[in-house]
Amino acid sequence: MTRSPAGRFAPSPSADLHIGNLRTAVLAWLFARSTGRRFLMRVEDLDYRTDSDIAARQLADLAALGLTWDGPAEYQSAHRERYDRVIDRLVSDDMVYECYCSRKDIAQAPRAPHAPQGAYPGICRDLTDAERAVRRRETGRPPALRLRTDVLTYTVTDLLHGEHTGIVDDFVVRRGDGVPAYNLAVVVDDAAAGIDQVVRGDDLLSSSPRQAYLARLLGHPEPVYAHVPLVLNTDGARLAKRDGAVTLAEIGVPRALRQIADSLGYDAGDVGGMLAEFDPEALPHRPWIYLPA
Ligand code: GLU
Repeated sequence: MTRSPAGRFAPSPSADLHIGNLRTAVLAWLFARSTGRRFLMRVEDLDYRTDSDIAARQLADLAALGLTWDGPAEYQSAHRERYDRVIDRLVSDDMVYECYCSRKDIAQAPRAPHAPQGAYPGICRDLTDAERAVRRRETGRPPALRLRTDVLTYTVTDLLHGEHTGIVDDFVVRRGDGVPAYNLAVVVDDAAAGIDQVVRGDDLLSSSPRQAYLARLLGHPEPVYAHVPLVLNTDGARLAKRDGAVTLAEIGVPRALRQIADSLGYDAGDVGGMLAEFDPEALPHRPWIYLPA
């Protein structure tokens, strides 16, 4: 079955969306709708299953801005077996290995001279069965599963950043607590839904080479990315609740839409009007500095 291509917004229900998240959602919607794509909503709640109120408020806020999505929002927690199937396949194809490392083990491990910062140093990659049994006994924790990768970097295409090359290390695909890792879940869900356009905050640009590499490994097409600038406070730090009135409930819908439109240089004060003015080539590449009321 061929499906029409789609874009998406994929909030984690960790807190109410702030004006920066809302602006990213508007941009994801503009990118999708201006290219005739479906627009899908996915709640990334593998970590937050207990608080569905936040997810409901996030969706209500997005709808209040005038954003529309095709079909009901999808909740990651509703289809754990989808990830487990992929992980089982990686296990049976010998493409993953058990990792017993704590954060401290990783931080303290000696690093090969040219190993990139932030890359897993490979401590558990080549353990013998006997060594693995010792690690298991010593740590007493269930292991995470890491992908056995055969590249150091990978290049993705990004509509704002051009060709972006970043680290691909042996990243975790299933955490020690059994929860599928974010990088795996995103790739599996995007492919399952026919998503070929990923628009999100540029804090995730560095994750995109890992995700695109995994997509290719699993036989899925790589999406086109657009990592849009974040919204910062006046100190240049990521906008947060403590910065003042930053959520839709605090700002109000008309004002939030006006602020988002102004930040993008649009006259329209509604998303339909912004769609008419949308020009991906003309998007600001610099962070938006937000001054809460
Ligand atoms: N759930 C992630 C977040 O809220 C976004 C994941 C993605 O867009 O790939 O930061």
